[in-house]
Amino acid sequence: MRFQKFLLIILAVQMLNSCNNHDTNQGTILHGKTMGTIWTVHIMDIKNHHKDELRRLIQEQLDRDDNDFSTWKTNSALSHFNRYQGSDPQPISIGMADIVTEALRIGMKTGGYMNIMVGPLVNLWGFGPMQEPLHTPNENEIASAKALTNLEHLRLIQDINGQWLQKDLPSIYVDLSTMGEGYATDHLARLMEEQGITNYLVSVGGAVLCRGKSSYDKPWKVAIQKPTDRENAVEARVELKGHGISTAGSYRNYYELDGKRISHIIDPSTGRPINHNLVSATVIATTALEADGWDTALLVIGTERAKMLALKEHLAVYLITKEGKNFTHWISPQFKSFLVG
Ligand code: FAD
Repeated sequence: MRFQKFLLIILAVQMLNSCNNHDTNQGTILHGKTMGTIWTVHIMDIKNHHKDELRRLIQEQLDRDDNDFSTWKTNSALSHFNRYQGSDPQPISIGMADIVTEALRIGMKTGGYMNIMVGPLVNLWGFGPMQEPLHTPNENEIASAKALTNLEHLRLIQDINGQWLQKDLPSIYVDLSTMGEGYATDHLARLMEEQGITNYLVSVGGAVLCRGKSSYDKPWKVAIQKPTDRENAVEARVELKGHGISTAGSYRNYYELDGKRISHIIDPSTGRPINHNLVSATVIATTALEADGWDTALLVIGTERAKMLALKEHLAVYLITKEGKNFTHWISPQFKSFLVG
């Protein structure tokens, strides 16, 4: 397992290594493990006796999400769908339908570059539950996997009686890794609201969402990391103002194969990992799910097309591009209002 590296820093939250509860003079931090990564809940207004119960509710909810749309668990609902060889519509949860709806919407807007059917290519290049390949996959292997990634082979059906996913090719393989954390983050926020908690910051992996205020009545702040090997070097700070934020980067999640750096972001049009010089895309949006979908989409398409799409879709975006030995950044007009010194 390649444990996920964080590209955002939650300011004023100390990331602790154990999975216990912690009280600080800046509120309470709960954290634990899920989906091959870490969840963190930072709360300002929780009663002491409520903490253990809340921690249990959080972990149970995340475990349910994991059992629903993980491709790493052979028994998850999504793995059952991926193994299913027929073409009858298969019932899915409301949560999975939400992710697929948003993924298909962003997929359409990017001309298929953000593609949740990229799973066979993700596995071929060793970023899903499969082992990393020993050698670069050959043209035939890439072409066979790529043939399974056309979004037209997947159909989401929703009506008053429920929601279903249907495929017209038995071997297609849906991969919700890119947006699962965003969904789980929004889901945690809903849990906080149900529990009457109004001042919180929740995160699963690289997706973050906040509401209300942090310590000393201050807004929640998050920092984007510099794209260097030095973790916690700050590129820019933002005030989230109740929004979701997510960063996709190609500089931490990679491995070397036949002398080349292999990124976990796959370009569905080539069937190969991206190799352009856009190294980080951060998106702020109303939900963490949306931010988590767009950041990957922009990273796939590269700097110039990402800028054009961000402007066209009025997205709040911060891009970092490698230029020779240096890095340059580009900030969309919508992102500027979130920046703080
Ligand atoms: P993101 O940029 O958000 O997403 C990158 C991922 O999206 C890639 O790894 C690939 O899977 C997919 N992708 C690549 N290219 C495209 C594209 N063009 N369009 C759409 N998607 C693309 N990891 C483990 O190691 N062990 C686990 O048990 C595990 N369980 C998980 C369970 C769930 C429910 C989910 C959602 C993820 C799980 N993961 C697990 C994966 C892991 O935690 C991260 O989601 C993964 O590393 C990518 O997250 P990211 O934020 O780094 O990258």
